[in-house]
Amino acid sequence: MSRTAVTVAGRPVTRGARRRLAATLAGAVGLLGALAVALPSPAGAADCSAGYVALTYDDGPKPATTTTLLNALRSAGLRATFFNQGNAVQANPALARAQRDAGMWIGNHSWSHPHMTQLNQAQMTTEISQTQQAIQNATGTAPRLFRPPYGETNNTLKTVQAQFGLTEVLWNVDSQDWNNASTAQIVQAASTLQNGGVILMHDGYQTTINAIPQIAANLASRNLCTGMISPTTGRAVAPTDTPTTTTTTTTTSSQPGTGSCTATYRESQRWGDRFNGEVTIRAGSAPISSWTATVTVTSPQKVSATWNGTPSWDSSGNVMTMKPNGNGSLAAGASTTFGFTVMANGQWRAPTVSCRTP
Ligand code: ZN
Repeated sequence: MSRTAVTVAGRPVTRGARRRLAATLAGAVGLLGALAVALPSPAGAADCSAGYVALTYDDGPKPATTTTLLNALRSAGLRATFFNQGNAVQANPALARAQRDAGMWIGNHSWSHPHMTQLNQAQMTTEISQTQQAIQNATGTAPRLFRPPYGETNNTLKTVQAQFGLTEVLWNVDSQDWNNASTAQIVQAASTLQNGGVILMHDGYQTTINAIPQIAANLASRNLCTGMISPTTGRAVAPTDTPTTTTTTTTTSSQPGTGSCTATYRESQRWGDRFNGEVTIRAGSAPISSWTATVTVTSPQKVSATWNGTPSWDSSGNVMTMKPNGNGSLAAGASTTFGFTVMANGQWRAPTVSCRTP
């Protein structure tokens, strides 16, 4: 905390507000210094062994910049949390969906960006509830996170946040992009992020977008990855919607005399909006003459491509039945693999798989 410039986006901070902000930040992230452990990392490897930080972009979505910002994040392999204004989401719902589809998380940043602490409780409720609804309408999911404009909060606002199940998220590093910081200064600010930390940035500045490749390189050099903000703690944590090579195996009992099979799923590749899955079908201790596999995805996921098999679909479109291309016979213990691409549409859960013989 002591290194953090205590300024709040767009305005100077009174001493009282500074104390309140400091106290809130201490509750949210102040323990990090004590908890952070410097983990040894493999030489030359850019991994997540040093933990996770959260990049946040406020005040969007904006037609002039959001698409460019998302492309820059995806090109750099970064994920971020967008604290959106409700009125901007209502005006640009497709951009909110694009945030979701790029693998980003979305939080509530009020409807019209007022000084919330100058509103009464009913006005606060309107600002928050209309934004929850607009984001739900645009993306299918209501936020769990709320960032008050200017970082200004009070007990009345906290009461309203709680009524909507929202966790208040401030920041412990301020990029100062709202205050004409240069790209180099934004990169420098991000270089102070530690495990669990949250950096304040905004959707709307080319300097901020230009900082992304260098932020990515700096985080990778320190074995830090970009994570989600925990609705429980308000801290950056490993994404829970990013299964790391999830493997599920199902053996389906077979009819007498036809042998048995095992289906194993693994995620083989991931992009900002989709992932590839592979299913390996392995024969048991007896040869099999053929096999049938079932892959069930979670709505609104959609399978957009398949290979090494012949698919058919149920009426929901969520259950794919895969049969071999041509002869599906397998010797005892032998295996074959088919694959598919899933458009996540914001849902990253691994499919469930099973197989049967023949
Ligand atoms: Zn803002």
